[in-house]
Amino acid sequence: MRAGSLTVVSVVSVVSAVTALSVLTAAFTALAVLGPSAPRGQASAAAPRRALPLAGRTVVLDPGHNPGNASHPAEINQLVDVGNGRKACNTTGTSTDAGYTEAEFTLDLARRVRLLLAAEGARVILTQDGDRPWGPCVTERAAIGNQAHADAVVALHADGATPEGHGFHVILPAEVVAGAADTRPIVGPSRRLGLNLRDAYTLATGEPFATYLGGGTGLMVRSDLGGLNLSQVPAVFIECGNMRNAADAARLSTPAWREMAAHGVALGITLFLSGTETGIGGDTGSEG
Ligand SMILES: [Zn+2]
Repeated sequence: MRAGSLTVVSVVSVVSAVTALSVLTAAFTALAVLGPSAPRGQASAAAPRRALPLAGRTVVLDPGHNPGNASHPAEINQLVDVGNGRKACNTTGTSTDAGYTEAEFTLDLARRVRLLLAAEGARVILTQDGDRPWGPCVTERAAIGNQAHADAVVALHADGATPEGHGFHVILPAEVVAGAADTRPIVGPSRRLGLNLRDAYTLATGEPFATYLGGGTGLMVRSDLGGLNLSQVPAVFIECGNMRNAADAARLSTPAWREMAAHGVALGITLFLSGTETGIGGDTGSEG
């Protein structure tokens, strides 16, 4: 977490120092409640073994797209039912101008987050781990979280917006009741997950809330994403930055930065699972 303390300075330029510190305090409090990792392995023989803080919790990480999607257009273009409409099974995703793909980025980030959460005792499931030629479809991605009875699902993406825009945002499920979709039970907990994730991510990375959507909140609410519509467990997406923006692309392409991003994602999930409330910039998401 050495890097995290350095990035606070740049976060302060985005949010006030007071609110940033309050979130940091909440984060450290949550970690203290959960039990820091330091005592592990150092406990005396007489002390009871402390359970890992995320023991018994299940997290599904959904790395957006698949590096093989581009060479399987027929498979990924098949239409699937997302409750309130039909959409392509999956898409190829975006890339930086230099050719670093969103699919490579999300898979790398997911593997980093998995290591961090597993070290805290969580059962971590990836919807794909570079172990299949394409997909899965968005419907199967949602089903994986549901069947695992996941405590939290985070879909990892990076955006392909116009080059002028930068920053990240978190996508929350809208209330959708149509066909196989009924998000009413998950709208509330997903919003709490999204707020924790947004606040931890900006603190860990210094990445600002997106400048090009969301009204400066770093949040969007959408009703068109199968992964959210069909989820029966708390679920959000994070668009980690804009791959078409030069500065964001440079960060997303840097392994050390991705490690900071992974810490932010893992901390956001940990805060959610510990029931810690955060909220740097208000919690009003705009409709997408
Ligand atoms: Zn994507």
